[in-house]
Amino acid sequence: MGSTPTSTHPTRAPAHAGGPADLAGRQTRVRAALAAQDLPALLVSQAENIRYLSGFTGEGLLLVTAADVRLLTDSRFTIQAAQEAPDVILVQRDPRQIPALAAEVGALGVARLGFEAQHLRYSQYEDLHTALPQLALVPTRGLIDGQRAVKDAAELALIRRAVAIADQAFDEVSQEIRPGQTERQVARLIETRMIDLGAEGPAFPLIVAAGPNSAMAHAVPSDRPIGAGEPLVIDMGARYQGYNSDMTRTLILGPPDAKFKEIYNIVLRAQLAGEFTARSGLSGHAIDAVTRTVIQNAGYGDHFGHGTGHGIGLEVHEPPRVSHTGSEALIDDSVVISVEPGIYLEGWGGVRIEDLVLLHPSGAEVLTQARKHHYYD
Ligand code: ZN
Ligand code: ZN
Repeated sequence: MGSTPTSTHPTRAPAHAGGPADLAGRQTRVRAALAAQDLPALLVSQAENIRYLSGFTGEGLLLVTAADVRLLTDSRFTIQAAQEAPDVILVQRDPRQIPALAAEVGALGVARLGFEAQHLRYSQYEDLHTALPQLALVPTRGLIDGQRAVKDAAELALIRRAVAIADQAFDEVSQEIRPGQTERQVARLIETRMIDLGAEGPAFPLIVAAGPNSAMAHAVPSDRPIGAGEPLVIDMGARYQGYNSDMTRTLILGPPDAKFKEIYNIVLRAQLAGEFTARSGLSGHAIDAVTRTVIQNAGYGDHFGHGTGHGIGLEVHEPPRVSHTGSEALIDDSVVISVEPGIYLEGWGGVRIEDLVLLHPSGAEVLTQARKHHYYD
């Protein structure tokens, strides 16, 4: 998904803050992208893209043509579909049944149908091809993702809410963490607090990793008690009306030793340098280079294996990739990314610090406000 050029979407009209999603505008931009590829219709199968274009959050498939948008779903979801997606044509046909899907596609009378190469199941592709041998099935990549990377005001309002919920849950729960509590217990406290504050749920399975476990960037919370004096990485996010937040803080219970101070200060310096430099009009590659250079110059370049960040919205990880292996495409205005460098030392542990930032041509607005320890002396 990192190969998606993010600067090719048509200019979008600003939406009203917190107002309804501009579905018609989104559909228009998809049609323009389809026309550019000489495609008369697109079969949309990714759940987030279906939601983005129609408002529907259940199971189904979407058919976008120059004339209309059709939502195919089965009887389990028809009431929900009518409520969530009143502006699209509701077709009560179970798209998991190939004859039903083929009949609907065949009725469009098109010679070419685009599909999402990264999301349509291979078996569905095969079955559809068998049912409609005359139809050219054309793979597309990132046709909607480039547009989705740019957030309108309504989307930003939801992301800000998801960020605020995680910020508050972290600030409250982190004060109560004591040595002897397990990683899983802390994860559960944070998750419960986020839901109490209005989250639909966590944005992803929380990472609470202490001591040697924190050397694993994607550790799973265990029943290991958290000890004093060891690094404690908490990576968490909330989901609010479909939109996600994502943040990481690294704590230590009790006084830090020299090693923790050294590693923490390097990661914080890298993270702040990234936030200070990040803006739209730069590539993800260029933003990554800023944090990576700080860590490399400190001698820990080999211990920062992952990218600096990622886009976020309806998905926790979505374009653009902000990575040394990522794209050179320039990032658009109003894109939200994470800035999350880290250093991981096997046997000792890790430090990662992550905020979400909103990119503009003039710089990055830091959205995450959860307490962050300042430099250690
Ligand atoms: Zn994270
Ligand atoms: Zn992240």
